[in-house]
Amino acid sequence: MVAGAVRGAYRRDRRRLVELLRAGGIEDLAVLHAFDAVPRHLFVPEAVTHRAYEDVALPIGRDQTISRPAVHALHLSLAGLRGGENVLEVGTGSGYQTALLATLGARVFSIERIEALSALARARLTALGLGEVRLRVGDGSAGWPEEAPFDVILVGAAAPAVPEALREQMAPGGRMVVPVHTPSGQRLVLVRHVEEGWSQEIVDEARFVPLIGEGRP
Ligand code: SAH
Repeated sequence: MVAGAVRGAYRRDRRRLVELLRAGGIEDLAVLHAFDAVPRHLFVPEAVTHRAYEDVALPIGRDQTISRPAVHALHLSLAGLRGGENVLEVGTGSGYQTALLATLGARVFSIERIEALSALARARLTALGLGEVRLRVGDGSAGWPEEAPFDVILVGAAAPAVPEALREQMAPGGRMVVPVHTPSGQRLVLVRHVEEGWSQEIVDEARFVPLIGEGRP
């Protein structure tokens, strides 16, 4: 079985990465299990495969990068997925976080503006048997209105402010994790759709490629 064989490779490196994430404070067992299950080396260009299980961001072509595993782990922990959630991902990139989300049992809708990256991600996800994920090429800052509302929205590129269109597509009780530019640098913002409206909290510093889009904040 192809899927079984590719998962088998680099198994020990993957275990080491999971231990590193655990030592770094990631406690969500489902998230740690997803990192153990998804072969990150299949989501990076061959030239950097040997670094796939280090906690580093790596180039994926078209001036874009796959985030550090610790960053994906933080975003996924903040998402608090238990399976069955409707999730919107903005910035498919390599498709690695998309695969983690699918492994966590989410119904994933992922938007990427660069067609070539989306096509590569599609091929990788299909090879791993995660073909049920829905991918779209376009401006993710406008969201995916036909599939809204979303229990979780994860934005993988830094926005000038929390995109209004995305906020409006959050389900009641929903969460959005979005890096936002501020005068003192990028900050990771957790938005919650609460009864009275929206709450917003800065949870960390951030360092992302810019969100490029038409959507006005
Ligand atoms: N989580 C991804 C990280 C990708 S980097 C991974 O695991 O690989 C961020 C991605 O967001 C890039 O691929 C970039 O092309 C994409 N992006 C930037 N602005 C976008 C927009 N407005 N809509 C959709 N994708 C966007």
